[in-house]
Amino acid sequence: MATGKHYDVIIIGTGAGGGTLAYHLAPSGKRILLLERGGYLPREKDNWDSRAVFVESKYRAKETWYDKDGAAFHPGIHYYVGGNTKVYGAALLRFRKEDFGEVLHHGGISPAWPLRYEDFEPYYTKSEHLYHVHGQRGIDPTEGEAGAPYRYPPVSHEPRIQELFDDFRRLGRHPFPLPLGILLDEEEGKAVHTSACVRCPACDGFPCLVNGKADAQVICVDPALGHSNVELLTGAYVERLETNPSGRVVTKVIVTRNGAVEEYSADIVVVSCGAINSAALLLRSANEKHPGGLANSSDVVGRYYMRHNCSAFVAVSKDPNPTVFQKTLGLNDFYFRSEDWEYPLGEIQMLGKSDGEMLQGEAPGWAIWKPEFALGYLAEHSIDFWLQSEDLPDPGNRVSINPDGRIVLSIRESNLEGHQRLTAKLKAMLTEIGCHDQLMHRSLYLDKNIPIGGTAHQAGTVRFGRDPKTSALDVNCKAHDLDNLYVVDASFFVSIAAVNPSLTIMANALRVGDHLLERLGSTNDRK
Ligand SMILES: Cc1cc2nc3c(=O)[nH]c(=O)nc-3n(C[C@H](O)[C@H](O)[C@H](O)COP(=O)(O)OP(=O)(O)OC[C@H]3O[C@@H](n4cnc5c(N)ncnc54)[C@H](O)[C@@H]3O)c2cc1C
Ligand code: SF4
Repeated sequence: MATGKHYDVIIIGTGAGGGTLAYHLAPSGKRILLLERGGYLPREKDNWDSRAVFVESKYRAKETWYDKDGAAFHPGIHYYVGGNTKVYGAALLRFRKEDFGEVLHHGGISPAWPLRYEDFEPYYTKSEHLYHVHGQRGIDPTEGEAGAPYRYPPVSHEPRIQELFDDFRRLGRHPFPLPLGILLDEEEGKAVHTSACVRCPACDGFPCLVNGKADAQVICVDPALGHSNVELLTGAYVERLETNPSGRVVTKVIVTRNGAVEEYSADIVVVSCGAINSAALLLRSANEKHPGGLANSSDVVGRYYMRHNCSAFVAVSKDPNPTVFQKTLGLNDFYFRSEDWEYPLGEIQMLGKSDGEMLQGEAPGWAIWKPEFALGYLAEHSIDFWLQSEDLPDPGNRVSINPDGRIVLSIRESNLEGHQRLTAKLKAMLTEIGCHDQLMHRSLYLDKNIPIGGTAHQAGTVRFGRDPKTSALDVNCKAHDLDNLYVVDASFFVSIAAVNPSLTIMANALRVGDHLLERLGSTNDRK
């Protein structure tokens, strides 16, 4: 690998966006370089150890960022080949059709996207097939039309979760099998002997020791590297991008690797570092022609940061909950409104099952107000939920760079009422169906003790749109201000809806990939 080498395409970052794009472009024969600051996530027993993963945060980046008041925090972020999908819960849901239009929330307006659900639909189907999404259409009343059925059957519920499913139905609700990207082949609730996924208890938030999770490394980067025209450099931190004198073309990608500075160039440069790091890279790349940061004549780069209003809860069932793989149920009955409120509340889904180690890690926070639940009882009776509601894009919620070059994240919470009501709805339902009247925060999953550090669903910092005055990217995710710069991670989001973001990032990467193939005068025989 010679520094200074020229490529057709450089992709910076190998997560949901960059990894999926690399997979799509690989068969074109074009010379493609992937630059990834992390390495491969080590495969070791600790991958499935709750203490190592949640209490000691072994796989999280050892990085310090700052809030708007200068207080330091450690973000919940992971730098590996495959990006944050290495630890994701693999819940892969489409935005609802309505999410692409303007939606009135209690806290304000969630703005319309420049494209419609119908523009994304074919790519949603392709990414569901690519990422082995297991699901079932026609049960969740909020879902949009789909061009094809799921290719894989829904992941079966274990008995206690099936009971929960039936109980919710009895309450008149519409629980549905959560669409999941895992390489599972099961019979009667057990993984068959050829199945990569073994339905273990350590999935959501953990790396998968046996490569059974449909993450961006396993599904996209590794197969892309099977093409001789694709190269990957790990440990390659992109410091900044340089342009030609007119400022219209990115001419150099400046990389620090093994302590040395290297330079690469390409006809097309795609940034996909995750919403916070992509904005930071563009801001760091300010030059005479782009004084406010690259691609930032609109001054939107770094702004409109979103991350969901979300909570991880432990409920305590009166019956034991021996479930191993718990993340199999979702509920969207309150997605748009509830019987007693006209605004959106959000989505409820299961979370990976908490165990003794995690609960012990949480215990100091809980003991104050709930001493009667012994940890052993909790571990046997806990049922875990993930609640997510929409936060609204606000120009004041932003990523910036301090004089030392460190990332600063400024956040003002928005639209919280819907989330509080969603929590109350869950609590009321659980109380009706045989759980104790308690929901306890699972702060280790969420970094709730430092709310600003909960960056798992980061999005929106390099938004796309038709108007260069109010967006940084055009509808193909090309920078309005430059001819060869694209961004394909969650940065392009205009709003975040109330579903997990990855499937929309993947679908968009395939969509942008089609545009790039056309621009390169090339094809992909998978199209
Ligand atoms: C615990 C957890 C659970 C989650 N569960 C779900 C879920 O169930 N469903 C869902 O849809 N989403 C889930 N998510 C969110 C999901 O992982 C992210 O939305 C998704 O990975 C974002 O994709 P991305 O391409 O925007 O960025 P990432 O996947 O973060 O990829 C960015 C990549 O860029 C690299 N990079 C960053 N800066 C540089 C640089 N300067 N130079 C070179 N490389 C760089 C990073 O190392 C990384 O590999 C979860 C996240 C976490 C942390
Ligand atoms: S449940 Fe399956 S995909 Fe998830 S970590 Fe376990 S083996 Fe891997």
